[in-house]
Amino acid sequence: MTSVDAVVVGARAAGAATAYLLARSGLRVLLVDRGSYGTDTLSTHALMRGGVLQLHRWGVLDGVVAAGTPPVRLATFRYAGQIIPVPIKPSHGVDALYAPRRTVLDPILVDAAVVAGAEVRFGIAVADVERDARGTVTGVVGRTRAGAEFRARARIVVGADGIRSTVADRVGARVERTGAGASATTYGYWPDLGVNGYEWNFRPNAASGVIPTNDGLACVFASAVPRRIGRGGVGPLLPILAESDPDLAARLAVAPPPPMRTFTGLGGYVRRSWGPGWALVGDAGYFKDPLSAHGLTDALRDAELLAGAIIAVVAGEATEPDALAGYQATRDALSGPLFEAIDVIAGHRWADHQIGDLLLRLSAAMADEVDAIADLPMLPLVCVGPTSPLGAS
Ligand SMILES: Cc1cc2nc3c(=O)[nH]c(=O)nc-3n(C[C@H](O)[C@H](O)[C@H](O)COP(=O)(O)OP(=O)(O)OC[C@H]3O[C@@H](n4cnc5c(N)ncnc54)[C@H](O)[C@@H]3O)c2cc1C
Repeated sequence: MTSVDAVVVGARAAGAATAYLLARSGLRVLLVDRGSYGTDTLSTHALMRGGVLQLHRWGVLDGVVAAGTPPVRLATFRYAGQIIPVPIKPSHGVDALYAPRRTVLDPILVDAAVVAGAEVRFGIAVADVERDARGTVTGVVGRTRAGAEFRARARIVVGADGIRSTVADRVGARVERTGAGASATTYGYWPDLGVNGYEWNFRPNAASGVIPTNDGLACVFASAVPRRIGRGGVGPLLPILAESDPDLAARLAVAPPPPMRTFTGLGGYVRRSWGPGWALVGDAGYFKDPLSAHGLTDALRDAELLAGAIIAVVAGEATEPDALAGYQATRDALSGPLFEAIDVIAGHRWADHQIGDLLLRLSAAMADEVDAIADLPMLPLVCVGPTSPLGAS
C-alpha cells in the first residue's frame, strides 16, 4: 500500500495545482483521478487576472502561452445600452489574460506536478476515506479502472474532486453557506470569429459572452435561468446573444452549429473545508455560479493557500488545526464579496439599471483578491527535513 504525506483526490485545476505546490516543496504526494489525463470537462475556461498571476508565479504560464493560447488584452462589457471596453493593464507581472482549454491547462498542471516529484495515477476512483480509532482521516480506499482494490495511506487527504466531491461526502463536510441564485449555461466553439478579447454581455435573464481560446476557436456562451436555457444548444443561445450583440448572433445563425454543452445550474455553496487529516480545495469546498468565470482562478488561489498551510505544518510553524483553519478563514474572507455579488447576478434578479453596480462590486472583489495573491509569500521550493510531522505517519 502506498504511504505518502498527502494524497490528493482529483487531478484538475485545484488538485493538480495543490499536488504540484506540495511536491515542489519536497512532500511525498500521490495525485489520483478517476478520469483520464488530458480530457475535457464541462467548463468554459476564462482565467481572470488572479489566476494568470498564479500561473506566472508558479512558472507554468509559459506552457499556456507555448500551447498557442491567445493573449487577451481587452475585455468588452455590454450592459444597460452601453458598450464599455476595458483594456487589460499590466500589473503584478501580468500583461494579458488567457483562457486555455481544460485539455491544455489541466495537463500542464499535472505535468508540473510529475516533474516536481508527485506520483500521479489516473483511473483511480476513490470511494471512501479511512480513519484511525480517534476518527482522524488516515487515507483513502477505492478501485482502479480494472476493478482492483486501491488503498493509499496519507497524513492528509485533500479532496479536490469537484462539485460532487466523494471526499466531502465521506468526511461529512457540512455546508456552511448556500447561495440562492443558480443560472444555467450553454456553450459551444466557433472558428474564425475575429473577436478581440473577452466579451461579457449582461441583460436581465440573458447574459452571454465570447472567450477566445486555443486552435483559433472562440467559446460563445449564454446564461439565463434554467427554464430559459432548457436543454441548451444554439436554440436558446442565439436569441439570448441577439439581445446584446445582434451582429454576432446573426453571424452564428448562418454558421454550422457546433456541438454544444450545457450546465443546468447549481446554487453556490461554501463547505467546511478541513478536519482532522483532511482538507477540501477547489469546487469540492466552495462553488459559485459559472457566470462569475472565476472558479478556476479561485481553485488556483486556494491550492496555494492550502499548500502553504500544509507546508507550515510540515515546517513545524503551525499545528494542523491552526494552519487548516487559517486556510479556510483566508479563503472565505477573499471569497465572500465575490460569492455575494455573483449570487445576485446569477439569480438574474436585477434590472438593467442595477447591473453596473453589481459588476463594480465583482470587479472590486477581484482587485482585492489579486492584491492578496500578489502579497502571498512564495512557497519554499524544498521542504524542511526528515522529521516532518507529515512524514511520520
Ligand atoms: C458551464 C461552466 C462554465 C465555467 N466557466 C468557467 C470560466 O470561464 N472560468 C472559470 O474560472 N471557471 C469556470 N467554471 C468553473 C470551473 O470549471 C471550476 O471552478 C473548476 O473546474 C474547479 O476545478 P476543480 O479542480 O476544483 O474541480 P474539477 O475540475 O471538477 O475536477 C475534479 C476532478 O476530480 C475527479 N474526481 C471526482 N470524483 C472523484 C473520485 N471519487 N475519485 C477520483 N477522482 C475523482 C474528477 O474526475 C475531476 O477530474 C465553469 C464551470 C461550469 C460548470
